[in-house]
Amino acid sequence: MAEKVAVHKFGGTSLGSAERFVNAARLVQKAAAEGPVAVVASAMSGVTDRLIAAAVQAERGHQAASARVVAELRQRHVETAAEITRLAGGAVTFDGSILAELETALSGVALLRERTPRVADLISSFGERLSAPLLAATLSAMGCPARALDARAFMVTDDNHGSAKCDRKKSDPKIRRSLLGVLGKGMVPVVTGFIGRSPKGETTTLGRSGSDTTAALLGAAIGASAVVIWTDVDGVLTADPRIVPEARLLPQLSYREAAEMTYFGAKVLHFPAVLPAIAESIPLIIKNSFRPEVAGTTISSESLPGKGIRAISSMSGLCLISLDGRGMMGVPGIAARVFSAIARSGVSVMMFSQASSEQNIALVVPARDRDATVEALTQEFRLERMTGMIDGVLARPNIGVIAAVGEGMRGTPGIAARVFEAVAAAGVNVEVIAQGSSECNISFGIDEKDAPAAVRALHAVVTAA
Ligand code: ADP
Ligand code: ASP
Ligand code: MG
Repeated sequence: MAEKVAVHKFGGTSLGSAERFVNAARLVQKAAAEGPVAVVASAMSGVTDRLIAAAVQAERGHQAASARVVAELRQRHVETAAEITRLAGGAVTFDGSILAELETALSGVALLRERTPRVADLISSFGERLSAPLLAATLSAMGCPARALDARAFMVTDDNHGSAKCDRKKSDPKIRRSLLGVLGKGMVPVVTGFIGRSPKGETTTLGRSGSDTTAALLGAAIGASAVVIWTDVDGVLTADPRIVPEARLLPQLSYREAAEMTYFGAKVLHFPAVLPAIAESIPLIIKNSFRPEVAGTTISSESLPGKGIRAISSMSGLCLISLDGRGMMGVPGIAARVFSAIARSGVSVMMFSQASSEQNIALVVPARDRDATVEALTQEFRLERMTGMIDGVLARPNIGVIAAVGEGMRGTPGIAARVFEAVAAAGVNVEVIAQGSSECNISFGIDEKDAPAAVRALHAVVTAA
């Protein structure tokens, strides 16, 4: 295909009802009038949460409750299809036959009272497997022939269930063949977001919000002109609008700024989506499906000129692990041992800081990894603890991390001072600080209950700049 393809991804709220499906289909039609288009569909809003809840109910042995969720999902999709038929003026039928497979998976969980990561991924996969055919049918009914594609046919991942990573070498040729095959027949491919398959053929998921990453991976594989992420906000804003209602739209961001913001919790884009986009220099465009006339945010290698902080992001549900002791002073290789011990336990460190006195090393890890991290460090430093060189490994739960991000922070003096003055003035205590060597980000750990206050205090600094 000579002309470059544009990939358009619709998030859950952009597919939340029959009206939203029709609206999404109109946006695809409009894009298709300008050039070839491939589409990625998320599950309808709330569906993935309901599937996870059904699996939890089944694990507890509450089979009736999990069966109710399946019935509710069936009804929601049947009703949506009927309503789309009315709105689109062409018949859209809902094929619920795959729900039998969901019922079998949930019965298995209930019987064994065990929800393994493998079966949890299988259960979570149904949201996208129901929505993609519905969007393809909507498009076809509106006169734009489309075909639903199950991403498991070409998205080969590792077997890290729950946050699997795509194997691009294996996937890319398969992606090209599948998408270009459908496009070549004059149809729009509509791909299930979020899901893939492991080398053993089992269903995997790319992590919550992973449909963004599916879109970026497809875009990278086919050398797309752009990947457009349709969501429910005008684009990437200077902060999470749920915390800072007056947050402003950022028309342009560099890949690095987007990576820093999304790594530290800006939910508007799934962090791993940035990586294939950077690798193939494909712009990511975030747009509001409720207000398509707004230009949105373009993420590319270019950043806007200007000094200072551009945006604030935050995440919670973390834990601060610290290693204290005079015995670390001047001893080479301690940090390296900390990193390798933790890496062996499979935990990824969100933030690392070593006090200049060398008497303390602090790490921030996801709360779920707390026990594994403490265990790994306790084992690694057991001799030092016996000899009293290290006092011990401490874990402090309920930590949040705030990040101030902006290319213009580099080389601008006084930024850190302004950040910490603002946070102190808001009465928030800072537990740990890290500044990336890129100087495009200052991040720090606080008690998670203080996160909204810290974000608001810092946002006032951005606005004042
Ligand atoms: P979708 O269902 O379209 O994937 P998400 O809920 O995953 O949508 O992401 C969009 C949401 O991200 C917004 O509604 C907003 O609440 C949240 N968000 C968090 N941080 C930001 C930010 N900096 N800019 C814009 N939105 C943000
Ligand atoms: N449906 C999945 C989720 O809710 C993936 C996505 O929407 O991006 O996390
Ligand atoms: Mg999302």
